[in-house]
Amino acid sequence: MMGGTVPAGLTARLDPHRVYMRGTWSPAPRCIALDAEIGVRARCTIHPDKPSVCREVLASWEFGAHSPQCDKARIAHGLAPLTPADWHDDGDIAA
Ligand code: SF4
Repeated sequence: MMGGTVPAGLTARLDPHRVYMRGTWSPAPRCIALDAEIGVRARCTIHPDKPSVCREVLASWEFGAHSPQCDKARIAHGLAPLTPADWHDDGDIAA
């Protein structure tokens, strides 16, 4: 994640070459940049500048494919995995 535009204060050092988002390396991970009520609403407060690793994890079925990482995260928080029926034609998620 070196060389990105993530504010340095939101990260911590993993090793000499890598950093991670504060809050994501714990038994109950919750990213410091996440503004959410789990199961109600969720927003990445640094969305335009989020790290590449976050850009690689897509929401299940947002672009027509299942995402095992998305499903795993939702299940860990007591939510059902997303299905194709959860998405509107305009690309927004159904409430
Ligand atoms: S997408 Fe945003 S809120 Fe989610 S883990 Fe990445 S930086 Fe944190």
